[in-house]
Amino acid sequence: MSRDQSRAGGDPVSISRQEILQDLEKLIRDGSLFGADRDPAITDGAEFDRALVKKKGKGTRFLIRKVPPKSKLLRRWARLFENAISPRTLFDALSARIHEFEHREKLLLFSKGRIIYDTEIFQGEESVGELTVSFASLRDPALGMLAYFSGARLRVVYIEHIHLTAQKSGYASALFRHYERLFHDLGFNQFRLSASLSVGRYYWAQEGFDFSDKSEAGRRKAELRALVKERALPVREVEIGRLNHAYDFARFRRELKIPAYRDAEGSYSSKADARFDEDVSLPLGKAFLLCSAPWEGYKTIYTNTPRITGFVTSRDYLSHRTRRGHVESPGRLRALLKAIDKQRPRRSLVTLSPYVPDLEFLQGIHSAKYLAKFRESVRRGEKVFSTADCSISAASFDVALLAAGGVMAGVDAVLNGRVDNAFCAVRPPGHHAGRDSAMGFCFINNVAVGAVYARTVYGVEKIFILDWDVHHGNGTQEIFEGDSLTYYCSLHEHPTFCFPGTGRRTERGTGAGAGFTLNLPLKPHTMDEELVEIFEREVVPEIERFEPGLIMVSAGFDAHERDPIADLDLTEKSFVHMTRRVCELADRYCGGRIVSVLEGGYDGPALAASVVAHLKTLQGRSPECLLEKG
Ligand SMILES: [Zn+2]
Repeated sequence: MSRDQSRAGGDPVSISRQEILQDLEKLIRDGSLFGADRDPAITDGAEFDRALVKKKGKGTRFLIRKVPPKSKLLRRWARLFENAISPRTLFDALSARIHEFEHREKLLLFSKGRIIYDTEIFQGEESVGELTVSFASLRDPALGMLAYFSGARLRVVYIEHIHLTAQKSGYASALFRHYERLFHDLGFNQFRLSASLSVGRYYWAQEGFDFSDKSEAGRRKAELRALVKERALPVREVEIGRLNHAYDFARFRRELKIPAYRDAEGSYSSKADARFDEDVSLPLGKAFLLCSAPWEGYKTIYTNTPRITGFVTSRDYLSHRTRRGHVESPGRLRALLKAIDKQRPRRSLVTLSPYVPDLEFLQGIHSAKYLAKFRESVRRGEKVFSTADCSISAASFDVALLAAGGVMAGVDAVLNGRVDNAFCAVRPPGHHAGRDSAMGFCFINNVAVGAVYARTVYGVEKIFILDWDVHHGNGTQEIFEGDSLTYYCSLHEHPTFCFPGTGRRTERGTGAGAGFTLNLPLKPHTMDEELVEIFEREVVPEIERFEPGLIMVSAGFDAHERDPIADLDLTEKSFVHMTRRVCELADRYCGGRIVSVLEGGYDGPALAASVVAHLKTLQGRSPECLLEKG
């Protein structure tokens, strides 16, 4: 939707630069406009730094610097507000008196990437709270595919912080409603609440169900509950303690409506009369408001709560050497580790060490005979094992064990709650290794070992393995195809065009496991948009149906457009999208538990960039994908 369509009506007003400058100068003279050297990072999802605008005692402005040059002020104003409003008008609109509350000690802070409004909230002469709102204009490739492809800049309002010393019934929600309308009319695309805010109350409020009288609110809730009961509606009441992605809300049963009537001011009533004369049937419940007026643009609820992500790797993984020119070389992992050090997501990663698993345990996945044969082949100094592409060196057996043990370490950390999710940067890869076979650079099926370990040691009942390596994970499929509790789902280049020649749609599992294998072959040159479409249409509903207790990812990055050995033309954006969605699904079904395992990826820089993007997304540090428009 274009910005103009999203407006309440009429042409956007353009204020002259002269007028804007005069207003800015007045605010500076009043001591209400400042600059900041630092900028609270938003593009990587870091927490907003309250200290930047924190006022220490009356009149003291902490960390706030001198005002930037006027040319900069004007540029930033134009970028964020497109000169559709003057600074004074905005300042007044932001601090509008609502009920008996007013803003004092308020200021505008011009930082590098955004403008921040910060204020204390007063009730009469008593300071009762504080509020921080910020405005930003984003064009981040990681923002989401739709925005990226359309080249659009998003203008976003963040409610960063609101704190009220006592429960001031109705104030916050009335204020948000006021802001929402204000910024909608100014053509902003998104209105985001920081994760610490209570959304539940907000959404009740937005539908007009907030009343200054608490008993009235209680009565309305009771009415809703009675309605649900009386009609036996398939609706659950959910207390929303934490913000969720918009998609979660959108999934609520929006087809179920209750009669409601709106007045010209946007307040609601359950009964129609002369004032409440607009018939608006409301989706039932408090979480459905994402798609309701007055907001018609993106209606994104944003969580900026980072997760704790474990990162498993070891220098020992470099000692599995393959013959000269082999794509599965130690150089892959070196490139990846170097990028991670450089990009520093590592500072906020929990480093985990792999360990050597019990051979006996591995016999639950591979036969004793096969493992002995592999060990023997390495011991004899052979150059390949089993198939010509399975190049080996002196350390290969030990390193292959350590790769499986890396996934076990990841499973330990996630299931012990030490981390929320984990990525295991292991090699050699594993998903082509079957019970009695090595192929496609794989010897021991790392992800399968992790899954069996999670089941047998931690009692995880249902495990969903998502394999987005460009090749079909025939080994993993073979190991679990008769198992109804381990769902194997693979997205890969079509077997007609790509190794290993299996993974057709007709392969759906066997015996008790029938229906618990899903292969989604993709034609060569499938690109991001199509991949995402297939992922949303086919993978997401399967995970929802299965309701796993743990999600494991066979995360190969060889579907990348720069990869030398396959022909899908994906970019990091696909991996970010899939990761983000897997995180949301894991949040919903299994306490966020994800263990992701490196498989393929043979272009060093592409692999490194993809893994960094994957890690950041696992950490909740990349902005959400734009999947659903309100
Ligand atoms: Zn692969």
